[in-house]
Amino acid sequence: MSSIAESRRPVIARTIESPRMRRSQRRHAVAVVVLSAAGILLAGGLAVAGRPPGLAELAIFLVFFTIAGLGISVGYHRMFTHQSFKAKTPVRVALAIMGSMAMQGTLKFWVALHRRHHEHSDAPGDPHSPYVLEDGTPLRAGFAGFWHSYMAWSFGHEVPNSAFYARDLMRDRLISRVNDLYFVWVAAGLALPALAGGWIHGSWIGALQGLAWGGLIRIYAGHNMIWSITSLTHIFGRRDFATRDRSTNNGWLALFTLGESWHNNHHAFPTAAVLRFRWYQFDPSGLFVAALEKTGLAWDVGRPGKHALDAKLKSN
Ligand SMILES: [Zn+2]
Ligand SMILES: [Zn+2]
Repeated sequence: MSSIAESRRPVIARTIESPRMRRSQRRHAVAVVVLSAAGILLAGGLAVAGRPPGLAELAIFLVFFTIAGLGISVGYHRMFTHQSFKAKTPVRVALAIMGSMAMQGTLKFWVALHRRHHEHSDAPGDPHSPYVLEDGTPLRAGFAGFWHSYMAWSFGHEVPNSAFYARDLMRDRLISRVNDLYFVWVAAGLALPALAGGWIHGSWIGALQGLAWGGLIRIYAGHNMIWSITSLTHIFGRRDFATRDRSTNNGWLALFTLGESWHNNHHAFPTAAVLRFRWYQFDPSGLFVAALEKTGLAWDVGRPGKHALDAKLKSN
């Protein structure tokens, strides 16, 4: 009986062959580049016109970079993709909204794409390996591989099927609702820093400065954060653990990537919510998860034990 039931179960494709979805994915990638360029032009124009960025712009940039960055690293990545800890519903919703503000795609899309990366890391099927294209074509070492894994991949990778890769999120009605309001959150990520700038300076020019630094340039910086992970942390750096991919640890990127650059640690232990395995490994996202845990907002926080760490180190 069970084998008949098995055979009747529909096969769910891992990727979706849809020219329409491919087009919208490409349009989204182009929109990121256009908005980034607009931010740089706007900030440059304002500076030339006598309104260079000051402390207020730096503060607005850092606040919104941190909000959206934690949304990606703690929310989209460590919690939703890898289920490395559990959190109360308001925290889950807040992290999904914060991640959406980064304009890196809807939660379900991001999760599906990243689970596909872990499934095929540095092998055919990986959306952003520096060593091989998704269709299996090897990439020559050097600039071509770097450029593909940095940002070029985002213009034309296969569309991952959320019904296959992100079923858990499809079943979550509240999170699905947040997911579907993606463009509202992206717009909020532009409007809020503009409001902050306008409020601080008490002028429309101040609002434009807030929009440029806390919105547009912040989106660009957040993309560079994630592009650094997809490329640099599979090319340069230390490999403390034996993994079947070529992921690396890069301490110099830890602050900018909020701890995601301990990427070899992450590939070795994907369900670890805290990536600080040695005393000197600075992991701001892990500190944030630990703070949520302390206040009772998060629990079941994934931390590999000493034996698990030693076992993988030894097999290196
Ligand atoms: Zn990776
Ligand atoms: Zn991951």
